Amino acid sequence: NTLSQQSLSTLPADVDVPKYDRSKLTAGIVHIGVGGFHRAHQAMYVNELLKTPGSESWAICGVGLLEANRGLRDVLVKQDYLYSLTVRHPNGQIDHQVIGSMIDFLFAPDNKQQVIDKLVNPQTKIVSLTITEGGYNFNPATGEFDFANPEIIHDMANLHDPITAFGYITAALMQRKANGMKPFTVQSCDNVQHNGDMTRKMLLAFVSKIDAELGQWIATNVAFPNAMVDRITPVTTKADIEHVANTLHIKDEWPITCEAFTQWVIEDNFSDGRPALDTVGAQFVSDVTPFEKMKIRLLNAGHSVLGLLGSIHGFATIDEAVSDPLFATYLRRFMDDEVTPLIDQLEGIDLTQYKDTLIERFANPNIKDSLARICLESSAKLPKFIIASINENIALNRDTSLACLVIATWCLYSDKQVNQQGEALDINDQMAAQLHTFASKTSEDPLAFLQLTDLFGDLNNQAVFCKDYRNAIADLYAEDSNIKVIMQARLQAK
Ligand code: NAD
Repeated sequence: NTLSQQSLSTLPADVDVPKYDRSKLTAGIVHIGVGGFHRAHQAMYVNELLKTPGSESWAICGVGLLEANRGLRDVLVKQDYLYSLTVRHPNGQIDHQVIGSMIDFLFAPDNKQQVIDKLVNPQTKIVSLTITEGGYNFNPATGEFDFANPEIIHDMANLHDPITAFGYITAALMQRKANGMKPFTVQSCDNVQHNGDMTRKMLLAFVSKIDAELGQWIATNVAFPNAMVDRITPVTTKADIEHVANTLHIKDEWPITCEAFTQWVIEDNFSDGRPALDTVGAQFVSDVTPFEKMKIRLLNAGHSVLGLLGSIHGFATIDEAVSDPLFATYLRRFMDDEVTPLIDQLEGIDLTQYKDTLIERFANPNIKDSLARICLESSAKLPKFIIASINENIALNRDTSLACLVIATWCLYSDKQVNQQGEALDINDQMAAQLHTFASKTSEDPLAFLQLTDLFGDLNNQAVFCKDYRNAIADLYAEDSNIKVIMQARLQAK
């Protein structure tokens, strides 16, 4: 019995299934990059919204640009675009929903024109994106658009036959402008700082080389709201599929599992109207910056603290690390002492409660978030997550000893590539080779890792920080080094 519109009535009574009339819906949102996160987050909010009469024009049409999305298309078509969402609470409670907000899915490699036509269709008010960091095509070193990318070079010369999201969006906006239509909003939902500004900058860089006048029109008329998004959504596993089969007695070939917590803070800036997502838990604000800072410096930094210290100790997942009282205390003291003083008071947010919830979320035994995933691309993450706070604290003459140990641990991690149990670490980082080269000189020069100034700026010239860092390196590189003993000592010295 496969999940479908028809089989919805066979599901157990406690499953929240769409009761609104899906045949009356139209797609006001076209979403590019229908991954796990989109299905756990935006599509879930829209599903809630559609329960309110009057919101029928805000359903979602998914778009897959990559060949890799063929399988997803096949599953969604078979299931009438329905899928189950298994929501796992920290206390072990599990809720099940079936999300009905997606009503169509276009697989671009099969019919590119159909995707462009959909984007041009006046029903389309918002084009939203979760195309991962890589999809924004910026050079990580300069932050500028990467014109050397062969797919971009192709799209610039062949807008009728696009490959990238930029190609499709540009082709559609060009057509809309020619038709005298309003543009859609381009709404990034990726975990990128100032995701709207980033999308705008990249799109304008691309378009201005093709059609400067179109670039002007986009700059003036298209809204790119920034947003802060949050909901931990691990990759779907076989066990998730079996769980749904066993509990809902239905075959869902691509169920999604996520944590209970969810947050979406969006700048209220739209080209052609927006759904009333504030009625279903999203928050519209004028400036998302302070919310982003709170999340990056607490949640993302917290992940990296546990990720690096926990990996060196030999833990495999976030919940395993934070259920060790010493790691939990270390994380809390890091957040309270080295981050909280840097965070502004925010409307609608109780910071103490936010931090309590973070630790509860990290401890969720039902969300097995691997430390290897957390430490993935640390070189792109740590400057924003942790080094930024270290720099602010140094400027304020504040102690940074807990963060300092994390940086020193990252050096050990990059140098030895094994944990303190002698097991190999799975390191995935664009800068892995450079990180290793610099870290491996630590025994000759304890500050060698900090010479990687692209990442660390002038930390190697900060006397107080360097003194503390040397101590951390000495402790970590000692014969009988034990990360827990070092963490304990740092907490006591604070
Ligand atoms: P995913 O791999 O499940 O989904 C990503 C989707 O985007 C896939 O369908 C993929 O084919 C597509 N895609 C990838 N690169 C693309 C490109 N260059 N152009 C077009 N499509 C592309 O990943 P996910 O877990 O859904 O995460 C997606 C993004 O969501 C993350 O990169 C992050 O920015 C954000 N996010 C994820 C989480 C989470 O916990 N998973 C939490 C918050 C935010």
